[in-house]
Amino acid sequence: MTSMPPSLWARTAIAGPECPPLVSTEECDTVVVGAGYTGCSAALHLAREGRAVRVLEAAEPGWGCSGRNGGQVNPGGNRATPDEIIETLGREWGERFITMGHETCDLVFELIDRYRIDCEALRPGYVQGGWGNTGLEYERDWVAQWNARGVETRLLDANEIRDLIGSDHYDHGLFDPRGGNVQPLSYARGLAHAAIAEGAVIHGNSKATRIERSGNDWRVSVEGGSSLTARHVLIGTNGYTDDLWPGLRRSVVPVCSFVAATAPLGHNVLPRVLPGRHAVSESGRVIVYYRLDRDGRFVIGGHGNLFNVDTSGDDSHVRAVAERLYPELGGVDWEYHWAGWPAMTRTHLPMLVGLAPGVFAGLGYNGRGVATATMMGKQLALAVLGEAPALRVEPLSTFALHPLRQIGISYRLIVGSWLDRRPRRKAA
Ligand SMILES: Cc1cc2nc3c(=O)[nH]c(=O)nc-3n(C[C@H](O)[C@H](O)[C@H](O)COP(=O)(O)OP(=O)(O)OC[C@H]3O[C@@H](n4cnc5c(N)ncnc54)[C@H](O)[C@@H]3O)c2cc1C
Repeated sequence: MTSMPPSLWARTAIAGPECPPLVSTEECDTVVVGAGYTGCSAALHLAREGRAVRVLEAAEPGWGCSGRNGGQVNPGGNRATPDEIIETLGREWGERFITMGHETCDLVFELIDRYRIDCEALRPGYVQGGWGNTGLEYERDWVAQWNARGVETRLLDANEIRDLIGSDHYDHGLFDPRGGNVQPLSYARGLAHAAIAEGAVIHGNSKATRIERSGNDWRVSVEGGSSLTARHVLIGTNGYTDDLWPGLRRSVVPVCSFVAATAPLGHNVLPRVLPGRHAVSESGRVIVYYRLDRDGRFVIGGHGNLFNVDTSGDDSHVRAVAERLYPELGGVDWEYHWAGWPAMTRTHLPMLVGLAPGVFAGLGYNGRGVATATMMGKQLALAVLGEAPALRVEPLSTFALHPLRQIGISYRLIVGSWLDRRPRRKAA
């Protein structure tokens, strides 16, 4: 089986389930392609309803972004504020998305409780920090709009955010109680265990290579000659989407994202860094996010860029941010760095795409997929069950000039990093 690339999470995760490759020709109700949060959650929700589900995974459960991310369970389903979501989707679908987005973190922590997933889950809340005018309007909008919907988010001034996270880097911020942290690979493997416990079958090392009509059903062929025939096919391959379904790869733009982790912090440093163990991100043009792991390692993530797009690349940019936030991290050892490919969409909102009768894809979490991909799996299951998903089922639409988009996004990241590094102004 293709194994996980080295990372802190690969080193400390719970064991994954046995997932023998598909070696025969079989029939089932639904084939799911990809065993990340999207695929495992879809399989879990369908198996729970008694459907015969098989998952095809090219490597092993959690091998993609689901086993490599920062482990932040971010609130709201998306970075966009409720008003921005309504502006993009219109009132009816916007309100549905907002209600669904509000439930995403609860879904994650409910599944963790229900299936007793051992994934270092903590729910101290989510903090976002900004400086000068950067992020100020966004923080005010987020808090006002979610408050109006009954969520007790609140604005933080410089003193409050410093007391909460131990860094005096920010002039202002927001606190959202819905967020938290998980060990992301343990969570992915836990979802896979749960899906199997409910009756799903997961085949590792089984790359789907072709989807074609077979009477009223679909046949999904697998590298090596085996295949599955099913009434429904769900695709949850996100930033690792290949040419399995024509055009799907070009509906999103994968962007490299990095994470680096220190050695466990010593007792002289640890009490001053993230004392409440919150999940934190910045309001800058380039998203930086950080947290502590169970053993007190400082874990920080941010985007790669045009010159830094492969997973073994240089992580000095995120380490430099860490030292800016917490000067006491200056002398600590950095033990790990790794990367993966989340997927961006045109609207910056995730997509549930109807590809053909009985074939759906869920993808494009724009770097916020721990909670949202879990929820997408549930929505894909609803689509198969004939119940109305909270997301509008949209037709496939591809980016024009797709290869240039990646360069464009990388360029924006380079300029954004430079602008974010300029001297900070105090808020007016
Ligand atoms: C470094 C990094 C940090 C991040 N930090 C956060 C964070 O802190 N919080 C947050 O909410 N989100 C974060 N994200 C985003 C989040 O990880 C993703 O949005 C989420 O994991 C997507 O899950 P998924 O199941 O859709 O896709 P993935 O987990 O990427 O899984 C896709 C799977 O499909 C498989 N596959 C692809 N093609 C085929 C095929 N033809 N046949 C069979 N299998 C196939 C792949 O092997 C892979 O396992 C981060 C991402 C990265 C890379």
